[in-house]
Amino acid sequence: MEVITTIKEIKNKINEFKRNNETIGFVPTMGYLHEGHKSLIDRARIENTKIIVSIFVNPIQFGENEDLSTYPRNLEGDSDICKNSGVDILFAPTVQEMYPNGFSSFVEVTGITDCLCGKSRPSHFRGVTTVVMKLLNITSCTKAYLGEKDFQQYKVIEKMVKDLNIDTTLVPCPIYREDDGLAKSSRNSYLNSEERISALCLSKALKKAKIELDKNKDAKSIIEIIKNEISKEPLAKIDYIEIVSQDTLKPITTIKENVLIAIAVFIGKTRLIDNLLYNIK
Ligand code: AMP
Repeated sequence: MEVITTIKEIKNKINEFKRNNETIGFVPTMGYLHEGHKSLIDRARIENTKIIVSIFVNPIQFGENEDLSTYPRNLEGDSDICKNSGVDILFAPTVQEMYPNGFSSFVEVTGITDCLCGKSRPSHFRGVTTVVMKLLNITSCTKAYLGEKDFQQYKVIEKMVKDLNIDTTLVPCPIYREDDGLAKSSRNSYLNSEERISALCLSKALKKAKIELDKNKDAKSIIEIIKNEISKEPLAKIDYIEIVSQDTLKPITTIKENVLIAIAVFIGKTRLIDNLLYNIK
C-alpha cells in the first residue's frame, strides 16, 4: 500500500491505473477508522481491482462550535487497517493541499440540505459536497462507497452526482453496529463509560420503533415512542427525531412509502446520529 499526500502524485498513480483498465473503488473518510469504515472497504475490495481510501478531516464541514480541533486522529492505526484490508492507496492530504491559499469555489446542493442534520449544522453539507466533489475529481473513481449511517449525506451526494453529471456510481452500505446495537462512529471515542451505556438509547429506541411500525403507521405516534425511550436516559438530549420520505427527505404523516427514521441525540457533549430505513413491503 502506498500512502500519498499530494494531489499531483495520486493523479499520476490513477492515470497509471486507468491505462491498465483498472476499476477504482473509493472510500472517503475522516479517519480514525473502525469496522464501519472497514465494511465499506471490504465491499469495495470485492467489486474493484484497485482501492483508494482517503483520510481527511475536512475543516469546512465543521461549524464554529463543533469538534474540529478535538476530532480523533490516528494515521498510523488507520494505515495498518487499510494495509490489512487490501487497500492500494491511502490518500491523506493536508488542509493546505486541499484548500490552498485563495481557494474560493464551493459546491452546494439545495432542497435536501436544510432539513435534518442541515438544520442544526447549517454549512455542514456545503462543506461535505465541496470536499467530496474534489475527491471524486481527484480519484476519478469507478465506484464510491458511502455509509447509510449518514443517510442524508448519501442522498445529498447522490443528488450532486446526478445533477452535475459525475461519472461515478455510488454504493450505499448498511450501518455497522457494535454487538450491543450502538452504531459504530469515530465520535464514540468521546464517550466515557457512563455515556457509552447511555448511548444505547438511540439504537434501542429505533428497535422499539421498528417493532411498532409493523402495526402502527402513524408517524407522530412512532416519533413519540422514540422520544419516550430516549427521554428515559438522563444524559441524553434530543436534537431531532424525524420520519421522512427516503426519496425527498420531507416529513410524512402516514407511513405508506419507504421512510427514513432519523435521530440525532446529544449524549453529554457528544452528538450522535442513527437511523432506520423502513421499507414498505
Ligand atoms: P466518516 O469518517 O465518519 O466521515 O465516515 C466515512 C464513511 O464511512 C461515510 O460514508 C460514513 O457514512 C461511513 N460510516 C461511518 N460509520 C459507519 C457505520 N457504522 N456503518 C457504515 N458506514 C459507516
